[in-house]
Amino acid sequence: MVLSTSPRSRAHLRLVSPADAGTAPRYGGDADRRLAAILAAEDVAEEHGLSAHIRTTCYVHRCWVHQCISDPLHVLVVTGHRWCRRCDRTVEVEVDEAAPGSVELHCDGCGVPPDTVANREVLQSCRTSLSAMHGGEASTLYVVPDS
Ligand SMILES: [Zn+2]
Ligand SMILES: [Zn+2]
Repeated sequence: MVLSTSPRSRAHLRLVSPADAGTAPRYGGDADRRLAAILAAEDVAEEHGLSAHIRTTCYVHRCWVHQCISDPLHVLVVTGHRWCRRCDRTVEVEVDEAAPGSVELHCDGCGVPPDTVANREVLQSCRTSLSAMHGGEASTLYVVPDS
């Protein structure tokens, strides 16, 4: 017996190009084809174990994650993302998009950067998304975690 379709190849996910977005109807009409390609690739990668918290693109807002991280939807009290447990309040995110870009977290309650695993993930995903956005038109090397 011969399998007619091969399983989704991990190798295929590693190289993202604008053409890849053509296979994802959800993002078919999006103007930025490179962003659409990475959105689609991260959707698939999530099914394969990529943590939603370290995505560089946002499934809900369909943009680079640093562009919508200040949205209240990205405050996750349960997991501690954009949340200061010391003060029980929202952590503010300051993003400077101008190349090379910068992302800083700040809590208006205690006045220090909230250094928790969850908030480090917020920083990491925003910094990665900033550099991905500035990556230009070239194909983006995208690593799918092995798990
Ligand atoms: Zn978002
Ligand atoms: Zn605080």
